[in-house]
Amino acid sequence: MRVNNRGAKTWDVIIVGGGIIGLSLAIALRKRGAKVLIVERGEPGREASSAAGGMLVDCAIETQPALQTLATASARMYPEFAHELEIESDTKVDLRDKGTILFPPATCLRSIACLAHSGSRTAALFPARSAELEPALAEPNPVREAFYLKERSIDPRALTAAAIKTAKNRGVDFSSGDPVTSVDFRDGRAAGVTTPKTFFRAPKIVNGAGAWSGQIAPHAFPTRPVKGQMLCLVSPARELLKHVIRSPEVYLVPRSDGRIVVGSTIEESGFDKRTDAATIQRLHRAAIAMVPELRNAKILEDWAGLRPGTPDALPILGETATPGYYVATGHFRDGILLAPITARTMAQIVSGEAPDYDLTAFSPHRFTL
Ligand SMILES: Cc1cc2nc3c(=O)[nH]c(=O)nc-3n(C[C@H](O)[C@H](O)[C@H](O)COP(=O)(O)OP(=O)(O)OC[C@H]3O[C@@H](n4cnc5c(N)ncnc54)[C@H](O)[C@@H]3O)c2cc1C
Repeated sequence: MRVNNRGAKTWDVIIVGGGIIGLSLAIALRKRGAKVLIVERGEPGREASSAAGGMLVDCAIETQPALQTLATASARMYPEFAHELEIESDTKVDLRDKGTILFPPATCLRSIACLAHSGSRTAALFPARSAELEPALAEPNPVREAFYLKERSIDPRALTAAAIKTAKNRGVDFSSGDPVTSVDFRDGRAAGVTTPKTFFRAPKIVNGAGAWSGQIAPHAFPTRPVKGQMLCLVSPARELLKHVIRSPEVYLVPRSDGRIVVGSTIEESGFDKRTDAATIQRLHRAAIAMVPELRNAKILEDWAGLRPGTPDALPILGETATPGYYVATGHFRDGILLAPITARTMAQIVSGEAPDYDLTAFSPHRFTL
């Protein structure tokens, strides 16, 4: 924070939204010496970023081709990204690299088999005997071919907590509890943001408000909330699962403390974040069908989160038509995975540098705003 010659506080960059995207970008900009303020309407890190399963999926079968390069780059950045946050915040983020057992949808099997035998570098993928790798899996259910993916997972709640602490330690300022109602321009440039209580001044603003990004005047970014319901089980059998298990019906993400996160739904139901008992029970049953031992597990909690969706399911990254106004949103199902690469490339763009990666496919200009 700085004080200008009229006594008003100013920052170099204001980020709207304290989810994993806003937090990671704030840290990246602070490392470059920028004075950064995050304006968060609630408490930082409590929305999609804490609701996520934490799978770091960059497999070519499940990633949109346009996103593949960024997804792979971000997956590669994760060990360093997570390690740095752990060290700086003294918080464990539970980055696991045991891999994933994937039961792909039948429609994908052929292409997956091709990928598995093509020596593709996008994911180290090969057919695996699932029961050998993961004895807790029901056998012979599901009677499907399975594949081992060399991918990681992380605990998103721990990750966001670590990112909040790291941002604070590095001197990022926070304003929590009031929403940004508009991004304000002066002389055709970004000049600050307005909340119901005040005006915060900065020459550069980044809209990182996740599923709510489109609600902030004056640009109506075409983001929409895509609800996902989840539950968390804890089994009396310690370390019941080693791998992430993913099938079209359900996914299971084990944490190192014995919890198993079960997800998820993809629902278009506006900003409604309630769970419903029938859906949670269906996910629970699907988890038990996959891993029978989970019959003895307790449901610790259930919740729902709102993914930031876009019309083409790709993120929106870059500078808008108004100089000084940037956007980093629309990460849909991949925002945890894409946090490191988003922070890096957006920090480059906001600092006036060419980004390391071609972000044309993610430009805000692809939509008429
Ligand atoms: C159920 C579920 C499972 C998921 N699983 C995975 C997964 O396994 N792997 C993966 O990579 N991704 C996953 N995701 C996606 C991932 O969680 C999101 O893409 C990511 O968290 C988006 O981060 P964000 O910072 O953009 O949004 P958010 O975390 O939603 O943060 C946006 C912030 O902006 C704030 N805000 C909104 N409006 C305003 C305003 N007007 N003024 C100020 N602040 C405002 C909100 O309060 C919020 O804190 C999952 C998501 C869900 C819901």
